[in-house]
Amino acid sequence: MRHCDIAVVGLGLMGSAALYALARRGADVLGFDPLAVGEARGSSHGSCRIWRRFNFESAAYTALSDEAVAGWRALEAASGRTLLKPCPLLEAGPPGCAIVRQSRAAALAAGVLGGPATGPEVNAAFPAFRLPDDWEAVVQESAGILLADAALRALREAAADRIVPRAARIEPTHAGVRIITAEEDVLAGQAIVAAGPWIGSLVSELAPVLTVTRQTVGWFRPSKPAAVATGAFPIFLLEGPRGVVYGFPDFEGRGVKAGRHDHGPPASPDDWDVAPSDAELAPVRATLEALIPAAAGPILEREVCLYTNTLAADVRPDQGEEFIIDRLPSDPRIIVASPCSGHGAKFATAIGEILASLALDRTFQADPAFRLDRFSAFSRL
Ligand SMILES: Cc1cc2nc3c(=O)[nH]c(=O)nc-3n(C[C@H](O)[C@H](O)[C@H](O)COP(=O)(O)OP(=O)(O)OC[C@H]3O[C@@H](n4cnc5c(N)ncnc54)[C@H](O)[C@@H]3O)c2cc1C
Repeated sequence: MRHCDIAVVGLGLMGSAALYALARRGADVLGFDPLAVGEARGSSHGSCRIWRRFNFESAAYTALSDEAVAGWRALEAASGRTLLKPCPLLEAGPPGCAIVRQSRAAALAAGVLGGPATGPEVNAAFPAFRLPDDWEAVVQESAGILLADAALRALREAAADRIVPRAARIEPTHAGVRIITAEEDVLAGQAIVAAGPWIGSLVSELAPVLTVTRQTVGWFRPSKPAAVATGAFPIFLLEGPRGVVYGFPDFEGRGVKAGRHDHGPPASPDDWDVAPSDAELAPVRATLEALIPAAAGPILEREVCLYTNTLAADVRPDQGEEFIIDRLPSDPRIIVASPCSGHGAKFATAIGEILASLALDRTFQADPAFRLDRFSAFSRL
């Protein structure tokens, strides 16, 4: 049987970033995943994700964003690929909306608040928008478009000789953690499980604190292409009457990519048979028609992706949707990573380093906000 010190099971953005960080630190590591880059399964696939420095979810994420951007820039230099394209981000909503309030507070704390702050000011700065007069807004100039497929490719290529392209399951034994694939078994000292929406089937203790939802995104043909082109148009996150809708300028020549950030219907990670439909995108279309009419043309392409959402904690109550990054209390040789909740991609390089530190340094602990003992089911162990 082959041996390795650390096995990474699941090589989406999180597992691949952990594999990359461990390989760079000289660890004896192998990664397992049957999915090739570009295959539309799980949570990391597709052309782009939003990179935000200030996160409305919590001001505590600003430091993680800063660490991650340093990681993306280093990976760009090492791989020779462009991974993060600078692009301003507009966040807007009705008076008192939580997204604007929290992003503004974080930007203010960092001393970089400026730019359009009301609906009319946004409409003047970005002519594609038709925001109501009483809306509030904040523009993050330091935001960007993370090229998700390119990022995954860069992480995987740098550790290609350590990748076993097979599905695996884990079996803890006295001798180590057995990594079982159809072709071979590998005995690992520790395992990092970063299996995205499938993590609950590999580590069943996690299933009760996670829900998986189906998120459909579409590319809308613009009626005024120049008005939604990069440079004239920001990334946007709008808290409108149909929920939170986000989107990107037409930086790919495929139309304006837009989707709902609210949770879609519950989904099984193995059910990819239902094709994405225009009906699923109706709230997105209605939002674009009302607030960005220049971007509300016919839907040219559709894609499905899954959110793995963490439930709100009950021991140290949080706002919900924080990540899980920790050693498993019942067997600390197993490290689990579920940093999704629809906003994890931007942090992947920083989270890869955290996972590497958890595996290499027994005294290292993840931030309390990410630890499992915030849930009563784990705090008693
Ligand atoms: C529509 C959508 C929009 C998003 N927008 C943003 C955004 O704008 N900004 C942002 O920061 N984040 C965003 N996110 C969230 C972000 O994409 C996720 O946080 C991130 O992709 C999670 O990556 P992961 O590696 O945990 O999971 P995945 O990418 O799902 O990776 C899990 C991997 O595990 C593998 N696997 C499963 N079972 C096994 C097994 N038995 N053996 C081996 N391998 C296995 C799978 O093949 C898969 O490759 C978005 C997500 C979605 C779905």
